[in-house]
Amino acid sequence: MPVSNRFYIFVDFDGTITREDVGANIFIKYGKHPDVYDIEMDIRTHKITAFEGWTKLFAVTPGLSMPQILEYAHSFAIDETFKDLVAFAGENNYPLTVLSDGFDNYINLIFNREQITGQTLFANTLVEKANAVVPEFPYGDEECSDCANCKRNHILEMTPDDVITVYIGNGSSDTCPAQFCDYIFAKDDLLKFCEKNRIPYTPYKSFGDVLVRLRELQQKKWPKKRHQAVLKRNEVYKLG
Ligand SMILES: [Mg+2]
Repeated sequence: MPVSNRFYIFVDFDGTITREDVGANIFIKYGKHPDVYDIEMDIRTHKITAFEGWTKLFAVTPGLSMPQILEYAHSFAIDETFKDLVAFAGENNYPLTVLSDGFDNYINLIFNREQITGQTLFANTLVEKANAVVPEFPYGDEECSDCANCKRNHILEMTPDDVITVYIGNGSSDTCPAQFCDYIFAKDDLLKFCEKNRIPYTPYKSFGDVLVRLRELQQKKWPKKRHQAVLKRNEVYKLG
């Protein structure tokens, strides 16, 4: 099948768009130590699922309130060059989707503060119930509970077969979805995972690096899909 050089871009939020992991730091600030560190390490190393992890983190952070969360989240800086990626996607009419296993409450707060618009967001959400903050997970996968928000499913549902998919991420919730994409931009834990599993990737420090590479790829007359990613996609469709 001929491939159009239309990019569908998927981006993680915590530690990718923001320089630090907002979700993890909320619990480090307000939760019980050392429990918080142990739980966060277990999530990072896939010892427990993200769903279990978030549930445990809330359990060791009694009295956590929405104003506390939002006020602290407000102090986190973004990689300013993300705005250039949003502009690039807009100019070229490439769909840009933010996929997060964190919570839309603080993500939207930061996007509003930075006046970033035009992207689609899928994340978990926090609601206030009887004076407590409770996590809700609207996008879990029925069969795989590794992530609370199944990023892979969003990618499969959103992308036609003949486009080039791009994944940009840094952490444990990115290792699964990145494998279904044609071009992977990786740092931190995602980079280590790609190295270990011999998955081709481009290392990056900022979205500025990503843009340089995407502009090069844009010039290619016959962009190629990554064979292993195509096989992974087909596997899921066969099972379904
Ligand atoms: Mg991350």
